[in-house]
Amino acid sequence: MCTGRIDLEFILRAFSNGSDGVFIGGCHLGECNYVTAGNYAALSMVLLCRKLLEHIGVNPERLRLEWCSSGEGIRFAHFMNDFSKKVKELGPLGQGELIDENKLRSKLEEVTKLVPYIKIVKRDKLEKRLENAEEYNDYFTSEEIEELFREVISYYIDPEKCQACMICARRCPVEAIISAKNQIHVIDQEKCIKCGTCFEACPPKFSAVTKISGEPVPPPIPEEERTIVKKSKEK
Ligand code: SF4
Ligand code: SF4
Repeated sequence: MCTGRIDLEFILRAFSNGSDGVFIGGCHLGECNYVTAGNYAALSMVLLCRKLLEHIGVNPERLRLEWCSSGEGIRFAHFMNDFSKKVKELGPLGQGELIDENKLRSKLEEVTKLVPYIKIVKRDKLEKRLENAEEYNDYFTSEEIEELFREVISYYIDPEKCQACMICARRCPVEAIISAKNQIHVIDQEKCIKCGTCFEACPPKFSAVTKISGEPVPPPIPEEERTIVKKSKEK
């Protein structure tokens, strides 16, 4: 019903499923039917997505957003004809960019996996509503997207500090923490969406969750070494 419902993940999924182009049509800015003014949110999201596509080597022209009300049939027909023509010119997704199909798939998967993280890092900008449409032209720069990927943060539980209190595992929204009673906790990096909740949740007296940026995450401690032996039981 509303372009405000458009999520980065939807657009990336369409491309992952082989769409050569994605067109989003929404109500004109300032004419949203809802108090949420969802079309501003859609605009920010699409601008960010175009930069992400550019970052992975996909032509951002494959994603278009136009404002068009239900009463503007001729305008809508014009946009659709023009966009179809553009997509035909660009050719099939990947081929037009000279990217191998498997490489493109893995790049799209990589960006899709980072969507929750990207939305957290760019939350302020995504939520902001600019008064002037021109201000959106350079709202997200290629440099800041490069930086975003360069500085992507991973979370790691220090096995020396973890006390197996289980708080982080209970709070993790995607069950990415391998947890058991009296067992040092481990983050499954494949499942982790880098939301940072475990970092916030780990009690300061333990401070076992650390942020890692710009270097690989240490391998998980082997399963047979995860049991925490309480000092009193050692005697
Ligand atoms: S960063 Fe978020 S998703 Fe990842 S392990 Fe911590 S709580 Fe779970
Ligand atoms: S909250 Fe901290 S101490 Fe508790 S299980 Fe998680 S990492 Fe370990």
